[in-house]
Amino acid sequence: DGLVSAYAAPEESDAEATLRPKRLSEFIAQHRVREQLELLLHGAMRRGSPPDHILLSGSPGLGKTTLAMIVSAELGVGLRLTSGPAIERSGDLAAILTSLSHGDVLFIDEIHRMARPAEELLYSAMEDFRVDVVVGKGPGATAIPLDVEPFTLVGATTRAGLLTGPMRDRFGFVGHLDFYEPAELEVLLHRSARILGVQVTPEGATEIAGRSRGTPRIANRLLRRVRDFAEVRADGVVDATVAKAALRVYDVDDLGLDRLDRAVLVALVDSFGGGPVGLSTLAVAVGEQPDTVEEVCEPFLVRAGLLARTPRGRVATAGAWRHLGRKPPATVSS
Ligand code: ADP
Repeated sequence: DGLVSAYAAPEESDAEATLRPKRLSEFIAQHRVREQLELLLHGAMRRGSPPDHILLSGSPGLGKTTLAMIVSAELGVGLRLTSGPAIERSGDLAAILTSLSHGDVLFIDEIHRMARPAEELLYSAMEDFRVDVVVGKGPGATAIPLDVEPFTLVGATTRAGLLTGPMRDRFGFVGHLDFYEPAELEVLLHRSARILGVQVTPEGATEIAGRSRGTPRIANRLLRRVRDFAEVRADGVVDATVAKAALRVYDVDDLGLDRLDRAVLVALVDSFGGGPVGLSTLAVAVGEQPDTVEEVCEPFLVRAGLLARTPRGRVATAGAWRHLGRKPPATVSS
C-alpha cells in the first residue's frame, strides 16, 4: 500500500533524485511560477545580489524540493536542505545559518512546523542577516549577535495559510504549485521514461497519468511499478494493456484510488447509506485512525468530487455511488 501516497517513502530518495529536473527549463508545467521565478533569479543575477526569500506552497509531491534545488543550480550557489520538524532548538538553526556561505540557498521544508523560538531567530536572519544567540541561563544570560552571510531562504509549506503572518511577510516571493493536468503528467512520464530507458506508448502514458492524482511523485512511482510488470510479464513495452494490468495488480483503480480510499467510499455507501456520518465513525468502519482518513484519503476524494464534507458529516456524492457501480439514490444530487 501507499503506492498512491503523495509522500515519499524513505527508500525512494535515490529513484526520485534520478528523475529530478536540474534546470528551470526542464521543469514541466507550472508555467506561471516558472516564469515568475525566472524573472526573480535573472533580476538578482544581473544585480549580483541574492534574490528575495522564496515561499513555495502546494501539496506534497508537486515539486517544491525540486524547485529549491533548481534555484540553487540556476544561481550557481550552494544548497542546504532541512525541515521545520528537524529544527528542534533555535541553536540548531543558528548553527546552520552561521555556516552558510555568501549567496547560499537554505531550503526549509514544512516551514510551518518550525518551533516558535527557531522561527523568531529566523526572522532576524531573513531581514537583517544577523542572529542573536543566547548564551547561559537566567540573569547571567547574554545575547551574542552573530553575522549571517546574505542568503536566500526557500521555504516550503503544504498551505501558505498555515504560516504565521510575520513569517509570511518576510518572503519577497510567494509561488503556489497546483495539481498537474493529466496531459502535463503525460509529458512528465515520457521524460521519466526516457531517463529510465523504458519504452512507453502514448496510450500507456495516458493510462498512468489518469491515475496519478495530479501529482508528479505518484506518476513517477506508478511508472516504476508498471515498468517492473512490463519487464517481468510482458515484452518490456508499457502500453495501455500492460499499464492497466499492472495497476490492477497493485490495486490502483482507474481514478487512482487505492484500497483504503475505496474502503472509505464503500463504508460510506454500504454501511451508512451514503452519509452524513462523522469522521471518527467512518474511520472505525475502515479500521483506520481518523487522522489517516482525514489527511491521506479525504483531500483527494474531495478533489475528485467523490466525497463532501458537510457540517453534519461526510457524504458520498452521486459520483461516488457511480464509481462503485451503484445507482445513486434519488436524494443524492449529482
Ligand atoms: P515536494 O517537495 O513538493 O514534495 P518534490 O520536489 O520532491 O516534491 O517532487 C517529487 C518528485 O516529482 C521528484 O522526483 C521530482 O523530480 C518530480 N517532479 C515534481 N515536479 C516536477 C516537474 N514539474 N517536472 C518534472 N518532475 C517533477
